[in-house]
Amino acid sequence: FASAEGAMLRDVDGNSYIDYVGSWGPMILGHAAPMVLEAIQVAARSTTSFGAPCEPEVELAEEIVSIVPGIESVRMVNSGTEATMSAIRLARAATGREIILKCDGCYHGHSDSLLVEAGSGVATYGIAGSPGVCADIARLTCSLPFNDLDAFSRSISEIGSKKVAALIIEPVPGNMGLVLPKPGYLEGLRKICSENGILLVFDEVMSGFRVGLGGAIERYGVQPDLVTFGKVIGGGLPVGAFAGPKDLMSQLAPEGGVYQAGTLSGNPLAMTAGLATIRELRSSNPYSVLSEKTKKLTQGLSQLASENGISLQTNTCGSMFGYSFNSEPVENFADAKECNLEQFKQFFWAMLKKGVYLAPSAFEAGFIGTTHDELLIDQTLEKAGEVFEELGA
Ligand code: PLP
Repeated sequence: FASAEGAMLRDVDGNSYIDYVGSWGPMILGHAAPMVLEAIQVAARSTTSFGAPCEPEVELAEEIVSIVPGIESVRMVNSGTEATMSAIRLARAATGREIILKCDGCYHGHSDSLLVEAGSGVATYGIAGSPGVCADIARLTCSLPFNDLDAFSRSISEIGSKKVAALIIEPVPGNMGLVLPKPGYLEGLRKICSENGILLVFDEVMSGFRVGLGGAIERYGVQPDLVTFGKVIGGGLPVGAFAGPKDLMSQLAPEGGVYQAGTLSGNPLAMTAGLATIRELRSSNPYSVLSEKTKKLTQGLSQLASENGISLQTNTCGSMFGYSFNSEPVENFADAKECNLEQFKQFFWAMLKKGVYLAPSAFEAGFIGTTHDELLIDQTLEKAGEVFEELGA
């Protein structure tokens, strides 16, 4: 790509696309949002990095604390990967335990401990999810099916609850398409974690300030022990953060002994872009409008698919959406993998040729921002209708 504005991308050959990827989530205000660009330009005049705390860093942390329930302290880092990696270290230190549980199909960045897939059986230790991840590290992570409280309880008792430091989970997974938590699932996890001294970590790198201003914590009313952020809180610049109550967060260096640091963490440009984004979201509160637009898109896709005899499942949560060429609803990664990948590929490429940029994987969510107007959604549906017609034939 060469440039972008609002909901539109332009590639190096001069072709335009309606963008439903939004840089994988950050661009909730659209590309090159004027208030974000201006803020960055002003900030850049007084250096691009201090390597020490700056005012917008504190202000952004204060915004996060005042918006997201149950958070007292925030540590800024440079990416979602760093946020989850550091939250895991803190959870291990705070509990004195080593095993981490995660869910199949949830993605938490590319650190070794979290790039782990399920072994066979519920409570088997994980296997490396990439060449280069050592088996000994993968064995400290166990992966379970999402939306399955029994599997969680069973694996805790098989592993031994006193060995499990934390469960890290995307409360609204957007890395296996979009999957919604079943009613009572997040509440059940909270209860079981509390009963067993296991820390519950919500990875809201994607869902934070996206499924609502207060993210999934506010939307579902379930309080994790630690939460990670990224994407939207950086307004399109490299950012991550993790947060929680003071008693946990004060265990981090330099106050406590859990080492964490970063040359560019709390970088003034990123903090300023994030602050401009969060303040705009807070004052304009676009979430119900975004949600309606997102539903219009997925309802339109479902209807057009069914008119052409194509099985399509869709989900939305705020301004996140997923669509999957499945005949049954998708509730976990095993379901997601049942999709018709061939149909997905054909749909993706045909839409791209017609100027609609969707995520190039069947296992990703899509994103709508404030600059996607009704006209763009109507145009998208018109093109999707043509593609479904070709696929149906
Ligand atoms: N956690 C979740 C839920 C994500 O979706 C991602 C990235 O897509 C990450 C963590 C990693 O973030 P980053 O790519 O900024 O390292």
